Amino acid sequence: MSVEVKDGKKEDNILVATLSMIKQAVDLAGLSLEVYEHLRTPMRFVEVAVPVEMEDGSTRVFTGYRCQHNNVFGPYKGGLRYHPDVTTDSIKALSMWMTLKCSLVGVPFGGGKGAIVCDSQNMTHKERERMTRGYVRALGSILGPETDIPAPDVFTDSQVMAWIADEYSSIMREPSFGVVTGKPLAVGGCVGRNEATGRGCYFVAKEAAQAFKIPFEKARIAIQGFGNVGSNAALLFAEKGCPVIAVSDISGGVYNKEGLDILKLIDHVERTGYVKGFPGAGAISNEELLAVECDILIPAALENQITGKNANDVRAKIVVEAANGPTTPEADQILKENDILVVPDILANSGGVTVSYFEWVQNNYGFRWDLATVNRRLEEKMVEAFNMVYSFYCEKCIGSDMRTGAYMYSIQRLAEAMHYRGWLRNGTHRQ
Ligand code: GLU
Repeated sequence: MSVEVKDGKKEDNILVATLSMIKQAVDLAGLSLEVYEHLRTPMRFVEVAVPVEMEDGSTRVFTGYRCQHNNVFGPYKGGLRYHPDVTTDSIKALSMWMTLKCSLVGVPFGGGKGAIVCDSQNMTHKERERMTRGYVRALGSILGPETDIPAPDVFTDSQVMAWIADEYSSIMREPSFGVVTGKPLAVGGCVGRNEATGRGCYFVAKEAAQAFKIPFEKARIAIQGFGNVGSNAALLFAEKGCPVIAVSDISGGVYNKEGLDILKLIDHVERTGYVKGFPGAGAISNEELLAVECDILIPAALENQITGKNANDVRAKIVVEAANGPTTPEADQILKENDILVVPDILANSGGVTVSYFEWVQNNYGFRWDLATVNRRLEEKMVEAFNMVYSFYCEKCIGSDMRTGAYMYSIQRLAEAMHYRGWLRNGTHRQ
């Protein structure tokens, strides 16, 4: 799956890998090739120029994307990412994962993803605001609460969502906050949305430990990435008593075999910006974190972290993919050979979009749920999705892996909806 990219660097192309996974799942499930045809190409891919007046008075023009992959289940749904390394292929793959994720967890959305190619960490608040509003002005006509609903993703947050809601509402000349999810509570956000991806991942890890007969309260956890998802998951594990023995971010990692004090670590990160230098823990590198002996390894950073090169070093019993696409196909193969269960991203990180759905429902009704209701409904959805996929995998995917099972399960549901909508000429399955 490695392809040459334009600067000559080798890169694992996640679009190539995703298409081949989708094709394999369609074949294994005996689904009509028309299903693959529908999933192979996004329904719409838009590229826009976003001119931004910078603080020094100059104008910079950023490139923005929105990929609307498939809407057989409902409005396109998926995050908006600000990152300098975004490519058109990665956005397409990420939008495909959203389609698969929404289908898997049973929320009535299709898949989408957007991005602006930028180094937003080094931009000012005002520059980020102008850039976000410019993106909405360029793309507003294809967004909407019944059309396409962005949400937070890498380096975007509830403030960015509030700017989108505001700009979109002024274009529509009426408050229309349901156009995005992951908003601040003051403008129609949902309690628990910010923590939802980490919390969903925690529920799934708990179910996976049970399936593997690992006593959960004693499960040693290692987490790569200490942003929103990694830190919220870490907190929940620690609250339950699970020793979180290693955590890393771009500065490197920290390790303590007795378990790190996560509240103190969060405080340290708030003060210094990084996990590095946390007292009471040894320093490790990001590579060493992936190789730590533990029960559950949680990659919660970016794509392509566990690769053909380092997969043999992984000494966890279970990998729970909190990030999107952290494991390459070569690594998947190695982990399977080493009897390590990989709970795939489209299941493990679907807690975010699940609570986005709850937010959208509340916006539509003009009604608010309390935190206990949100968390209970999230737990129900995650536990149900895990058990459905896990038993499907155990029954139907002998010799294969849970990712293949999750893809098959999800695509079968998409095929059924395509069939009823009249998108397939000869039924859901091959004749
Ligand atoms: N960006 C998140 C994801 O990749 C959330 C998407 C959403 O809530 O729409 O799942």
